[in-house]
Order: sequence, then structure tokens, then C-alpha cells
Amino acid sequence: MARIAGETVDAVNQRSDIIAIVGEYTRLEHRGDDWWGCCPFHNEKTPSFHVIPERKMYHCFGCGKGGGPVTFVMEMEKLTFVEAVESLAKKAGIEVIYEGENSAPDIPKDNTKELLAALYERVAGSFHYLLTQSPQGQAALKYLEGRHVSPEIIEKFKLGYAPADRRWLHDFLTKKGYSREFLEKSGLFSKKYTEVAFFSDRLMFPINNRKGQVVAFGGRILNGEGPKYLNSGDLPQYKKGETLFAFDHALPEIRTTKSVIFCEGYMDVLAWHQAGICRAVAPLGTAFTADQAKLVRSFAETVYLSFDSDTAGQTATFKAILLCRQFGFNVRVIEIKNGKDPADILLNEGGEALKKLLEYSIIDLDYLILSAGTRFDIGSPEGKTRASALLFPYIEVLESDIQRESTINRLSAAFGISEKALLSDFKNRKQPRPDYKPVGQDTTARPKMQNMKKNAELRAVLAVAANTGFFPVMRSSLSSDDFEDPVARELFIVLEECYRTDTTTYDSLLERCSDDSLRNLIAETVMTGEFAENAQKTIEDSILLIRRNLLEKRKTRLVTRMNLIRGTNTDEVRTVTEMMAEKQSIDEELAKLKDMNE
Ligand SMILES: [Zn+2]
Repeated sequence: MARIAGETVDAVNQRSDIIAIVGEYTRLEHRGDDWWGCCPFHNEKTPSFHVIPERKMYHCFGCGKGGGPVTFVMEMEKLTFVEAVESLAKKAGIEVIYEGENSAPDIPKDNTKELLAALYERVAGSFHYLLTQSPQGQAALKYLEGRHVSPEIIEKFKLGYAPADRRWLHDFLTKKGYSREFLEKSGLFSKKYTEVAFFSDRLMFPINNRKGQVVAFGGRILNGEGPKYLNSGDLPQYKKGETLFAFDHALPEIRTTKSVIFCEGYMDVLAWHQAGICRAVAPLGTAFTADQAKLVRSFAETVYLSFDSDTAGQTATFKAILLCRQFGFNVRVIEIKNGKDPADILLNEGGEALKKLLEYSIIDLDYLILSAGTRFDIGSPEGKTRASALLFPYIEVLESDIQRESTINRLSAAFGISEKALLSDFKNRKQPRPDYKPVGQDTTARPKMQNMKKNAELRAVLAVAANTGFFPVMRSSLSSDDFEDPVARELFIVLEECYRTDTTTYDSLLERCSDDSLRNLIAETVMTGEFAENAQKTIEDSILLIRRNLLEKRKTRLVTRMNLIRGTNTDEVRTVTEMMAEKQSIDEELAKLKDMNE
């Protein structure tokens, strides 16, 4: 495993703009000298994520996560330390120096993700060419024209065509120099017949990561038998449940409007974007997942749901409402009547009609009341019971008692049931199904270290970690063996390594820590400014205290031993004398320390 030289880590840390890096994932607001936002690592509605640009550090008061620019990129993009430094270095134009080596390429490292991303980019380019420039793609292009998808949208989303000849892609790529072994792992071919393309004779939708790189595909059937849509499975560079179609295109508008449109499929997304409403996204052949909701939660407050009006669409809408409410979104439902979809509206009535639909969207509670009213006869007691029971999972996931109360109030009026009866039914309802269980705050995210009592040793090394300039003072009076607390000892060793390699940034420091809880603890200490005032006094006092404790312990051990051997074995008299001398020197040293302390 390649190791990056400390000087590179420091340079990357110094050149990184932590506000810009974090700002890619969550909206930060300026308060005083610092920045605050909702934590991108756990689900929350009030900002407890704190960033201090001059220290290049972040810390979440909710879940305890903290670190520097490199740690942030590691966690968010699921990269190793080396990958995170390399990615930041690339952005900042810094040459990465590896330890013990002069150049990177000689060092074997796992760059499968990058190679696959490059392959997908190339394949997307070829599919796009086939669609727009070659006779093979004519039928697919005709289909898009029939759906009035504009050339600009075809270009923007780099739509493509996968040829009917299922061996074409393999031939094409091997001619370009890709190895069979690599292509076998690429997810582009059948698992069983490794030369046969997974997608054939399909209209291709490249799926991008948030940076706009193609990482997977969705393909729509054009002729013959088979599923209407096929999607890439999970790959090293792509997780279906954590990715949203068109998120890279939609993010700027999601940011400015603080809202997002969740659609059912790729064609719906294209219609919204073509109408100039560029904040529409879709899941990838599955229902919306909690991870996808989390992805947009940092940027958006309101979710517009744009699903079909058929039964499947209604079920999807209901599930999405519950999911979005669990994440504290405001939810509005866009109603498209008569079995139409956004593409139909765009085609028949134009972009303005889609904008109107957005304007006339209704809040989720109204939608649920209306749909319960159409599904059940709310004139009958039986119908009232079933209609209100349909709404219970919704009441369940609401954030506050006030919201629950006002919802019960609305239901009471809408269904003609007394609030008292509704409340008692709600309380006696059957336990919610597991998939409706509220997500709530992720308590498992809280690291164990946060609850740990900081003993004198830990306090001393943490104070030094937050003020590394004092490390020479500490190492002149203590060595790692002097620490009994294993965490404090580890941190002392980390500080010693940084001192010896002359690395000064927190990223360098954090990299050397063996586990997340220690990293988070350091970040918390730095960010809360616990030792910002009187650092020198705190550190000097703690060093004295640690030394005193050490001496006291040595003295106790010595006295115990002296009592044990005294009178039992006269041969050891000399040893006892020596011990007496040692005890005396300990006593003197302790007296000296006591003077210094007072
Ligand atoms: Zn957090």
C-alpha cells in the first residue's frame, strides 16, 4: 500500500478550501467567523455541523464526527486516505509525493474505480455517437423524436444507443486495448457469456455521479421481448441505492430553490428539464431509498413528488411521502390526471403547463385525505375507520406533537370523526409495519469516545493536539511509556511522529490515528476550543500531574516490595538500602513537583 509523504498531506491541507469542499454536500451559513450547516453524516433538521475555515476542521455536535478536508472527502466519497489525498491534490494541482519513492506510477494501487469510470465515459461516448450519427441508432432517435425529446436534452444527458449486435461492444473495446479480464469485471457484459453485452438494442441513459462522470447505465427496450428498463447492478464506482438519476444536472437548481422534484423514471426527468425546470431527479429502477433522501436533504427543504396517477404510482407516492417526512422534508404532490405523465403534458400542452402543475401542487396531507376519500366510502363508519387507518403511518412519522395534533384535527374535520375517537384509534392502532419505522436520529452514529471521561492523561495530550506548538515541552518531560491510558499513549505517539516528520496540519495528525473515535475526539477538542485559552498553563499543569501520579505509583510499588522482603531474607539488605535510596529520591522529586504546582 502506497503511503503519501507528510509534506504532500500538509500541502493538500493548506491548499484545500474546506468551506467549498463541505459546501458540495451541505448548505453552510456564515455565523461570526465560523460556518454552520445540517450534518451530511446524520439526519438532522437544525444545524449542528460546525466548520472553522482557519483551522480547516469540522465537527458535528450531533453525531460527533469531525476532521479535516482529507477526512471529509474520505468519509463522503468512501475513499481511502491515499485516494482522498490524491483527489484533493489533483484539484489543487499539487504533485503527490509517495514515501520512499520519487514517482507514483511505479506503486501498485487499486485504481479499479477510476479505470471503470473512464471505461463508462468512453462507452457512453460511443453509444451517444451511435444514436446521433449512425444509421444503427435511427430507430432509437425516432422514438425520442416521437416523444419530442429535444436535441439539446439528448446532448445534455448524453443519451445513446446500444447496438443490437451483442458482440459489438466486446470487439470494440478489445480493439481499443482493454483486457478480457478487466471487461469481465466491468458490469457491461453478461456474467455467463462474458463477450455478450448486457445492454443491446436499447436506448441508453448514462447515470452520472455527482461530479458528472458516467458510472452506470439504464437502458430502455425498443423492440422485442424483455424488461422495459434494464439497469446496471452495483459496481465499485456505483451504488444504485445511493445514486439519483440527473442529480449532477439538478443540484444547482436544488440549491437555489431549496426544493427537488422526485420522479418515477428517466423520461419524466427529461421532460421536466426540457421544460426548464432543472431540479428533477429519479431513482434507478427501484423505489426511493433513505440514502437517496439523505443525498438531497442537505440542500432541499421541500420535495415535490411527481408520480403516475395509476395504482402503482399512488402506492409509490404514499411510500415516498412517509420516507420524505421521516427526513423532515415538506412534501407536496404534483397531480397529473388521466393517466398522463410529465412527458405527455410537455408534448401536448407545453412547458408552461408543467410549471403550472408545480404551482398547483398540493401538500401531502391534502393529497392523502383526498385519496383516502376516493378509496373508501367515508359516509359509513367502516369507511371512516379504514380511511383514518390509512393516515396513521403518516401521523406516526411526523416530527412534532404539534404537527400530529393539527393533523388529527384536519382528519377529524375531513372524515367527520371526533378528535377523541381518532386519537384513541391512533393510540390503539396495530404496530406499524417495519418499513414504516421512523428513521429518526441515528443513535448508532454516536461514537463511544464521546461518552468517555477524559482523564488527566487524555486531557493533556488533547490539549497538545489542539496546540501542537507545545509538544516539545511535553516530550521533554514525558515519554510514551509514561502514559497508562492507551488512547492517550496512542495520541502521544502520533504527536511524536508528526513532530519527527515535521508535519503540521490536522490532516496529517488525523491520518496517523488508528480509529475514528480518536479522530472525532481530536476534532471536537479543536473545534470547541476547549483548550484555546490558557493552553500553556493547562498543559504544564497536566504534565506535572501525570509525573506526580507516575511517581506516586512507583513509590507505592517500592514500599509494598520493601515490606514484603523486610525481615524475611537478610541477604537482600543491600537491595533494601538501594530501595530506600530510590524512595528518598522519589520523595524529593515529588516535593519538587509539589512546589512547582503551588
Ligand atoms: Zn452529524
